[in-house]
Amino acid sequence: MRMDKEFAPDKEALRHAIDLLGEQYSSGEPGLLPSTFSDHGIGSRAVLDLLAPLVLGGAARLDAPTSFAHMDPPTPWVTWATTLWNASLNQNLLHPATSPTARLIEEQVVHWLAPFFGMAGGHMTPGSTLANLTALWAARECAAVKEVIAAGSAHMSVGKAAHLLGLRFRTLPTDSKGAMLAGAVPEDMALTALVLTAGSTSTGSVDPLSLAGKAAWTHVDAAWAGPLRISQHSDVLDGIEDADSVSVSAHKWLFQPKESALIFFKDPIKANEAISFDGPYLSKPNVGILGSHSAMAVPLMATLLAWGRSGLATRIGHCMDLSARFSDFVRSHQRLSLFAEPETGIVVWRPRDTACFDQVFQRLPQGSTSMTTLNGERWFRNVAANPNVDLERFIAGVLKAFDALP
Ligand SMILES: *Cc1c(COP(=O)(O)O)cnc(C)c1O
Repeated sequence: MRMDKEFAPDKEALRHAIDLLGEQYSSGEPGLLPSTFSDHGIGSRAVLDLLAPLVLGGAARLDAPTSFAHMDPPTPWVTWATTLWNASLNQNLLHPATSPTARLIEEQVVHWLAPFFGMAGGHMTPGSTLANLTALWAARECAAVKEVIAAGSAHMSVGKAAHLLGLRFRTLPTDSKGAMLAGAVPEDMALTALVLTAGSTSTGSVDPLSLAGKAAWTHVDAAWAGPLRISQHSDVLDGIEDADSVSVSAHKWLFQPKESALIFFKDPIKANEAISFDGPYLSKPNVGILGSHSAMAVPLMATLLAWGRSGLATRIGHCMDLSARFSDFVRSHQRLSLFAEPETGIVVWRPRDTACFDQVFQRLPQGSTSMTTLNGERWFRNVAANPNVDLERFIAGVLKAFDALP
């Protein structure tokens, strides 16, 4: 058989794929897709033109100047290029033989980042949901914990992990901002994994990290706010270094394409041993939950190399600044009410007159704002994950939403 060219780069078609990225599309049209899986393919080049309006035109634009709504950031182009390399190489970090240097790159990234959290090692996972599960699995094996305690504002993945691991799960009351009440923590935590959230998903609140080290195992879920540790706002997470494990989503505030996150351990040798399995076809034990494991470290490494610590810190600092400036605006406006001072780049607010909540929400720039429910009441939520937010334009959109309201 002749060589199958589908497995070699068609440079012209790949360039066309990049050109399509820059085009304007009216909107994604799902009707473009054939309703059945046809017998004959249309060819890879034609696929690009078929899918571009749908995939590119139908996507939420996280890079839009008023995209200020969710924890999903726009991604820097260097991650697009390295993700393309990844897809073409298809390395599998499960086997050293199928990822001779990709394993090294992941080790290096972990080695660079772990010390910011007082940790000594760890590995990458496809999200903090799995990082939290990995941490609590290690807690069960290393510290024989029987229960997991977290604030009521903790991410659902914490309760999910406890459920999967057969551990009892209890939530503790929070203060008015959503942070765990230190006084509610039980005296005896000899059989407890205490999960502290650094940057809760709804409000960005930070649990009292001074509690780290007071339980048989402390895990800090820093999925959202962990990267602050690398910025001038590092002190917001002081105390994190006393945890036994820390999770951070790289596909949030480290601007990585999904799926990318990190689990760090204080004692990685002990933790890795507890969560390793051996197989007859493995030359090295398999650490953690995943089997096949992608080279997701490559785009992260590329970003860290391209920007350096200060480049990353500047961008996170700028996002923090956007949230501070927006909360200043909310506080100074008589028709608006601020839930609490933002601590980690999340602004929660709403109209003072809650009767016009829905009307205002509909009039806000599309995709600019998300919603959350706190103590049974609805609030607007803006997350500063996009360094290119045009704050003046967004604020103008907010003011316009109130125009012509009674
Ligand atoms: C987003 C988030 C998670 C889950 O992380 P994924 O990367 O979406 O799996 C866990 N905890 C917190 C606090 C989060 O904000």
